[in-house]
Amino acid sequence: MTARPKTKAERVARAREVFAKLRAIHPDAHCELDHQGPFQLLVATVLSAQTTDKLVNKATPALFAAYPDARALAAAEPTAVGELLKKGGLGMYNQKSKNIVGLARGLVERHGGEVPRTLDALVELPGVGRKTANVVLGVSWGTPEGVVVDTHVQRLSQRLGFTKNTDPGSIELDLCALFPREDWDPLSHTLIFHGRRVCFAQRPACAACGVSDLCPSAFKAEHVGRKPPRTRPAPAPKVGAKKKPAAPLKAVKKKAAGKVGPATKPKK
Ligand code: SF4
Repeated sequence: MTARPKTKAERVARAREVFAKLRAIHPDAHCELDHQGPFQLLVATVLSAQTTDKLVNKATPALFAAYPDARALAAAEPTAVGELLKKGGLGMYNQKSKNIVGLARGLVERHGGEVPRTLDALVELPGVGRKTANVVLGVSWGTPEGVVVDTHVQRLSQRLGFTKNTDPGSIELDLCALFPREDWDPLSHTLIFHGRRVCFAQRPACAACGVSDLCPSAFKAEHVGRKPPRTRPAPAPKVGAKKKPAAPLKAVKKKAAGKVGPATKPKK
């Protein structure tokens, strides 16, 4: 790994060098939600909340065949739309069908069925947040107002040293400060491609990574940028239940030192 950049100018230069290399590695990086036109992209992006693009892509062909535009979807019954999503294998289909029918009705009532071209108008629509709006602005209109920070962009930005922040809003600001506007859209697609193919959340493939010479987390990234594991609160002990005796201190120390032998004797 080369020396860690110290000044802001060095950080910017390093980040852009890394991105140039990543673009060369993934020249075909693009939005992986199948769609034709901004309406389908907007709906597919809303459907992609808490699921994968692959699952959305399985469900949307039948959905868009039945409801090809905002007017058709706005006139639909959410239960009928939910049935289509369910058949397509999408989870949370009841909620998602209500969301996209509400979105289509918003498009028809406020924008004559067309997808607006500004962030302000997009985020006013039901179920559309800043991230979804920027996907549409970047991919369909080529005018992103920021960088789309999903789970991959969040993780890779931290691992690659683009940010020390951990929340999407602050990471987006850091990325916007490092890269020119024309890079904002390709940056997120490229980071997502690299995150899906090389820099996995668990066991990133650093040995096969084309930017390992520039990456501050190379070969030690396993725990950088990953969401903390969910912890369940320990159940309250039942009244009258016998307390499990604590392990003797000697055994705990031995275990911590890795000296505990096999639980059963090996067969001869
Ligand atoms: S070197 Fe490892 S941690 Fe860094 S970007 Fe590549 S795969 Fe990710």
